[in-house]
Amino acid sequence: PFRFDKSREAFARAARVIPAGIPGHLGPAEGLHIPHDAFPKFSSRAEGTRFWDLDGNEYIDYMCGYGPNVLGYNDPDVAAAANDQARREDVVTLPSSIMIDFAELLVDTVASADWAFFAKNGGDTTTLAIMTARAATGRKKIVFVKGYYHGVAPWTQKLDYPGVLEEDVANNLMVPWNDLGALRQMLADYRGEVAALIAQPYMHGNFTDNELPAADYWQQVRRLCTEHGVVLIVDDVRAGFRLDLAGSDHYFGFEADLICFCKALANGYNVSALCGKDALKEAVSSITYTGSYWMSAVPFAAGIATITKLVELDAPALFDRLGRRLTDGLVSAAADHGLSMIASGAPALFYLRLDDPTGSLMLHQEWVAECVQRGVFVTSHHNHFINAALTEADVDRTIEIADESFAIVAARHGLGF
Ligand code: PMP
Repeated sequence: PFRFDKSREAFARAARVIPAGIPGHLGPAEGLHIPHDAFPKFSSRAEGTRFWDLDGNEYIDYMCGYGPNVLGYNDPDVAAAANDQARREDVVTLPSSIMIDFAELLVDTVASADWAFFAKNGGDTTTLAIMTARAATGRKKIVFVKGYYHGVAPWTQKLDYPGVLEEDVANNLMVPWNDLGALRQMLADYRGEVAALIAQPYMHGNFTDNELPAADYWQQVRRLCTEHGVVLIVDDVRAGFRLDLAGSDHYFGFEADLICFCKALANGYNVSALCGKDALKEAVSSITYTGSYWMSAVPFAAGIATITKLVELDAPALFDRLGRRLTDGLVSAAADHGLSMIASGAPALFYLRLDDPTGSLMLHQEWVAECVQRGVFVTSHHNHFINAALTEADVDRTIEIADESFAIVAARHGLGF
């Protein structure tokens, strides 16, 4: 098994000068790197589908930077486009016209997009989507789906979280996923008050098996939103460009009014986009919303190269094929040891849970830790990501390491055969 001495020393240094050492979702707690000490804390290099940690250990990476790595780290075509743009200009007094090229490409690629508004993070786009819906409708309330994640702006948080005011979340309404009856009732109870419904294209939440939409669910949600004058927002920050290059709403056979993109948009270069329908263009244009780096040109060049290459590769089909090969292999390797691995969600963003008859999540965490210490970077209770640099040979090697790890966990607990 790997050692993480340098990572551990670096984390101690970080904790002295950086709040929480590594704040947020790449941190050992938030990143669901459980158990804490079984994971490296810092990386030093990345290429293709692999990264190397500070101690020099090599990983086949199934987290992809939590999504942005969609073509492979350091993709040569994206790097060439970005470097070429960087030699000309990046952040300047006026935007580069490459912003228009990128918007045109998104409008041509994403089925529900008539326009694109660029920012930096996913949360910038979900917040702009909510403001746009409120500006367009003059209404306050927002319907969320339980188990959601839409970023960290105060309106996305919970009342009992530190730093959040009652007023920040006073207009949030919740319905369960896949429950049309609850949504129908909510929209009737708050008739004329709901500005928007915001939802991920399917439930890819943490600490729970992921859940695809029931047949006809989205078509009925679309119909209800239209009937009640509610803006339908799809948060495609995580799933975007992995299920369908035309948008995850297109994948599930409906059209959103607003759709939020970030992670896979530029293969790790820093740009996000809110796309939407013509009917909301005036409302979004009226909002005061900008940032120092939002029109930086290098990420636009990277984004054009990324989307172009994803189209050439027919990447979603590739992700689906590799994701299925991997999850089928893991389920079958677990069964060979008398264990039950449950793979849920879309294969391109697979979620794993090693079933423990007692209902505990610890068995899964132990298996994850064994995999990580042998060079397969998975995480405990978050969906994973496939990238286009992953090969069938990488998948097969992953299954071998997973198999060894199943054997260790089964033997430790006297489970299986
Ligand atoms: N929505 C979803 C579904 C996400 O997965 C994320 C990021 N994990 C966000 C919004 C927020 O994006 P960001 O962290 O880039 O602000």
